[in-house]
Amino acid sequence: MHALILGGTHEGRELARLLVDAGWYVTSSLAGRVAAPRLPVGEVRVGGFGGPAGLTRWLMGSQIDVIIDATHPFAERISYSAAEAANATGVPLIALHRPAWTPEPRDKWILVQSMAEAARIAAQQFHHVFLTIGRQQLAPFADDPHNLYVIRAVEPPQVVLPKRNRVILSRGPFTVADEKKLMRDNQIDCVVTKNSGGELTRAKLVAARELGITVIMVQRPQLPKVKTVVHTPAEVLQMLSDSV
Ligand code: NAP
Repeated sequence: MHALILGGTHEGRELARLLVDAGWYVTSSLAGRVAAPRLPVGEVRVGGFGGPAGLTRWLMGSQIDVIIDATHPFAERISYSAAEAANATGVPLIALHRPAWTPEPRDKWILVQSMAEAARIAAQQFHHVFLTIGRQQLAPFADDPHNLYVIRAVEPPQVVLPKRNRVILSRGPFTVADEKKLMRDNQIDCVVTKNSGGELTRAKLVAARELGITVIMVQRPQLPKVKTVVHTPAEVLQMLSDSV
């Protein structure tokens, strides 16, 4: 049996390992955003398919028994492509999305719907802002000449940055102690993050809570309605083992 995993996430890599160990032939697909990505086991293809029509064509030329959309919850376009291509070809689709983070009693979260809204609030209400949003959506912060923005990303940002910036190139996971040190060293009074969910990047939320720092939490986009949605790689394995 041959599974296509749309990946680029920890869960995608974990699922590839589980399925390969269970005897599946696995092809993982990565967008190709990062020059040296962490590679999953099994076969790997890199690069876009060319929208829903391209993915549909690709599926028709491959012997894929199931697609698992294990992409990041903010990777909207590929999830819509997967839903459309699955409908067009009849290949079953499982959406694997980690649960969103939810606030705990001492958390000071400001919930926003977009990065533009996050940038507006950061500029108006805070001074030393920690941007832990990757490097693709930094543009809305670029026009603020006043605040210091501490930007953490895996690879150097390729866009215009705010005038006062410190770029930290680093790949997680990070401990709560690491995150507290970074926040204290830079006198951070606000953290901006997407509601990615998952354990690997949760430490920044714990650190902010313990230091009493506000978090501007960008809410998830609306993903396509998919019949089968699960939250962990183990659930996918279980579901596939039950169906063969
Ligand atoms: P996106 O906006 O949904 O995708 C943009 C385009 O990139 C898609 O239309 C597709 O091109 C291509 N693409 C995306 N994921 C792909 C995959 N797994 N395999 C093949 N092509 C893919 O996604 P994004 O937000 O740019 O994220 C890109 C990748 O990075 C995703 O795979 C995601 O899992 C990973 N990632 C994203 C974030 C985030 O915050 N967005 C964080 C961590 C990891 P075509 O239309 O040409 O097929």
